[in-house]
Amino acid sequence: MLRHTLVVRKNINSSSLLETKNLESYYGPIMALKGVSLTVKQGEIVTVLGANGAGKTTLLKNISGVMVPEKGDILHFRDNIEGFDTDKLVLKGISHVPEGREIFPLLSVEQNLFLGAFTRNNNPEISKDLDVVFSYFPILESRLTQQANTLSGGEQQMLAIGRGLMSRPSIMLLDEPSLGLSPILVKEIFTILKKLNKEQNLTILLVEQNAKAALDLADYGYVMELGRVVMDGKTNDLKSSKDIQEFYLGAKEESQLTQRRWKNRKTWR
Ligand code: ATP
Repeated sequence: MLRHTLVVRKNINSSSLLETKNLESYYGPIMALKGVSLTVKQGEIVTVLGANGAGKTTLLKNISGVMVPEKGDILHFRDNIEGFDTDKLVLKGISHVPEGREIFPLLSVEQNLFLGAFTRNNNPEISKDLDVVFSYFPILESRLTQQANTLSGGEQQMLAIGRGLMSRPSIMLLDEPSLGLSPILVKEIFTILKKLNKEQNLTILLVEQNAKAALDLADYGYVMELGRVVMDGKTNDLKSSKDIQEFYLGAKEESQLTQRRWKNRKTWR
């Protein structure tokens, strides 16, 4: 039962909350993003699928200001935010829950959550938001004083998401929240993400290797390979695509999958 409502920032004049246009990004000489364009509409859950090294994490790092793209634009409610510092982007409502959680291991659950609100100074509001986080993740309330590195993997993921919520985001960038978790925990966390999306109007950009869980959760999906978007569509359409079924939903044996790549197929764009 919700005790308070987390007021997520809204802008009813714009349906496109986040857009990337022809993003190019490098690690030294390695071109990791080769012109990535995508759109996330307000209130949507959008997933980005792709094999290891496709550029999914790099995409999120560019959006959240951890990396600065070489070329291209990043628009948040049509403001160009490309090159902004991470702090400023958090203030604008962009919250990044990175791969591997990256919680503060030696701090308590409570301290980790308060650090999520570091850009804010209204204590009564922060306390209310803490209550909202506890209503979605009650386990965190019962572990408030526990050191974060002693939590289980699932609890740490919940803490990472809870910390992300404490900045009152308009969009949450989630990098592989299912990593290392049991199917039951993945289901539990994805159910909570769906509730946050519906009840708190939280827009989510979700990077995942667990294609089935991601396609079941999201409204729209992009598929990346080798730094490019190679396919996109409503998740219901993606689920019925032969390529997606073969390469991401396990419709073929592993040995058959390695025989050819997506780009050999006629549907490759
Ligand atoms: P994964 O699911 O394995 O995390 P990914 O789709 O998120 O894969 P990225 O981590 O974005 O892919 O990597 C994209 C490309 O950039 C890969 O070729 C990768 O080897 C390279 N890369 C990523 N991080 C670095 C780094 N710190 N230094 C050099 N190259 C990197």
